[in-house]
Amino acid sequence: MNNLSTEYGAILVISGPSGAGKSSLINKVKELIGDFYFSISTTTRPIRTGEEESIHYHYVSKEEFKQDIEDDNFLEYALVHGNYYGTSLKPVKKALKKGQLVIFDIDVQGNAAVRNRLGDISTSVFVTTPSLKILKERLTSRATDTQEVIKNRISMAKIEVQRINEYDFLIINDDLDVAAEKLINIAKASRAKMPSVQINEFVHEWEDNA
Ligand code: ADP
Ligand code: 5GP
Repeated sequence: MNNLSTEYGAILVISGPSGAGKSSLINKVKELIGDFYFSISTTTRPIRTGEEESIHYHYVSKEEFKQDIEDDNFLEYALVHGNYYGTSLKPVKKALKKGQLVIFDIDVQGNAAVRNRLGDISTSVFVTTPSLKILKERLTSRATDTQEVIKNRISMAKIEVQRINEYDFLIINDDLDVAAEKLINIAKASRAKMPSVQINEFVHEWEDNA
């Protein structure tokens, strides 16, 4: 892979248990954080009612997904809740080249992979509810999943919160407006992150200009 960190642009990774409020937060702040590209992942999980191809995900078969892995098309991919999810490299590269902020809604494994490959230009934030009890209530009242799926998401959530210390920021999504304000500040700050290549260039220029 080319060294993407030499390009302009920045990455903001948003993770957190399903039902924590990531989509609600992104929806609330999207008009307030300037130009960004939201990375649409590819998944092998079945499309849900209310979702649309190319808006929520690119929905593919396991065979197609495996072909993409072989062709080295993913920046990162992971098995989550028994389904594959992956971030395609091409649109991310294009957006970074344009200097855009690229936002990912990916899991803890994805965050670790992005940090390894592009930590220089990445900022990460973990979103969660104030408690496990409130997560259960939100998943139940969202009413998009069966009891079995909710149970599965809750056991995943318990594992995911153990890795909060891998993130730059934590947003406890209690009051949505307060949480949105925090996300706006984090998104703005993430754009200002300077890759080490640029820092080195700056230091050289600074010294040369004696
Ligand atoms: P995620 O994208 O993380 O899976 P959602 O944005 O779908 O989560 O939110 C899960 C449910 O919780 C939705 O029904 C949403 O309306 C609700 N919700 C989100 N944030 C809050 C909040 N701060 N207070 C109360 N309910 C919330
Ligand atoms: P859902 O099925 O609820 O849409 O997503 C399940 C989980 O997969 C969420 O935690 C979401 O952040 C994660 N996810 C979605 N897309 C990707 C991706 O491209 N890569 C990784 N690693 N995780 C993803």
